[in-house]
Amino acid sequence: MTGGSPEYHSELLDPVVLSRAEHGISREGISDNALKVLYRLNSAGFDAYLVGGCVRDLMMGLHPKDFDVVTNATPDEVKGLFKNCRLIGRRFRLAHIVFGREIIEVATFRGHHQSATTKQNEKAKETLGKQSQEGQILRDNVFGTIEEDAERRDFTVNAMYYRVTDFTVTDFARGMQAIKDKRLALIGDPETRYREDPVRMLRAVRFAAKLNMRISDESADAIHHLNSLLSNIPPARLFEEVIKLFISGQGLETYKLMLEFGLIQPLFPQLAPLLVDPNSRESKFIEQVLINTDNRINTGQRVTPAFLYAAFLWYPIEEHCQKLMDEAGLIQFDAYNIAMNDVLHRQIQRIMIPKRFSSMMRDIWQLQLRLPKRFGRRAYQLLEHPKFRAAYDFLLIRGQIEGGSLLELADWWTEFQEADVEQRKAMLIKLREEEGGQTKRPRKRRSKKRPKPQQ
Ligand code: ATP
Ligand code: MG
Repeated sequence: MTGGSPEYHSELLDPVVLSRAEHGISREGISDNALKVLYRLNSAGFDAYLVGGCVRDLMMGLHPKDFDVVTNATPDEVKGLFKNCRLIGRRFRLAHIVFGREIIEVATFRGHHQSATTKQNEKAKETLGKQSQEGQILRDNVFGTIEEDAERRDFTVNAMYYRVTDFTVTDFARGMQAIKDKRLALIGDPETRYREDPVRMLRAVRFAAKLNMRISDESADAIHHLNSLLSNIPPARLFEEVIKLFISGQGLETYKLMLEFGLIQPLFPQLAPLLVDPNSRESKFIEQVLINTDNRINTGQRVTPAFLYAAFLWYPIEEHCQKLMDEAGLIQFDAYNIAMNDVLHRQIQRIMIPKRFSSMMRDIWQLQLRLPKRFGRRAYQLLEHPKFRAAYDFLLIRGQIEGGSLLELADWWTEFQEADVEQRKAMLIKLREEEGGQTKRPRKRRSKKRPKPQQ
């Protein structure tokens, strides 16, 4: 694979204008708020288009999850037109128009960093666009024309622009044909495009799984030797991107592609070595977690990133805990707490995990140690724990994968939750008869000191 030139050639793109009959998108599929934004920009004399995933999804008969608008108005000009507008982003400055829970993102056409537009002079340009030595784009606020904007989009299926004034779609990179061929290909030279933004490698597997497309050979090959560049991405940006990979409803498929392309290693370096054997319990556990997550999403249930991250780090914690016990002679409780901290600390060097999620992850992990201890009031206290349900779901998957006493424990909890008051009492008595004598000696001694009243 050649290095590729950072210059784009205009012959790269060959725009085709598709009429409504050809592209089949009707205004009914478009959010009213997105239409409002387009009309307002148009009536103020600006060009405005829907672009990217929403146009692609509408053409494929899917429901877009959000609507992105692109315009020749600058962010400040956009702000002047909408009361409900806030400007966001440093790396990529854009406007958010807020309609209650729906946000319409309005970006200004991006240009090449070599070119200046009439609105931006040469000096300003340097502070607007910035590229690292590896070719990574660090700042992307150079404005340009629609053609330049199209060349800078990632995949050919993402460079289609819908205009509400004449209902046309301008397809810059033969995206419609790519949809027909189920072919996902980057615009331009793959190596250059991945170097500019390594996150595009994650987007490639995500779209391939979500859209049921095959990544073109050239776009696929480059990933194999550039995957390590993902470790240069700021952890805060990766949090969002990684979650999108696994909550698309096609998480398992996406994960399999990530394994194939070596994308787990730069993101989850502690987990990756445990997944080399596809039949290992670690591999099976992650697959089962993703199957469950996909099922939940596809049946409209909520999922939390905390559960996924807790799962991704579970076996690294177990392994590290075992090591601390063997090598440093720590007792399980201490080793476990240190392992949780160490593993989490290493992970957030790669992917930032907000506190609200990491504290839930800790709850899920800590409850795994507490769930086997069910004597006396403990079982009832555990049921009341705010994160009991997540911890129980977690235990259930562990039980399914590991079997044996873990499966028995998970089944016990299933039964206990469904049982009535009397049945619960009976379960606890039975448990004490079966296990109590062997495990809890001190308790026995104490009960001798305080003899139960005679019945
Ligand atoms: P979805 O919303 O379904 O995840 P999308 O294609 O809309 O998919 P967004 O992240 O919403 O993805 O981005 C909107 C559009 O912006 C994309 O379709 C693409 O044209 C462009 N884009 C987004 N991220 C990049 C990137 N890293 N490099 C180049 N273009 C990008
Ligand atoms: Mg989108």
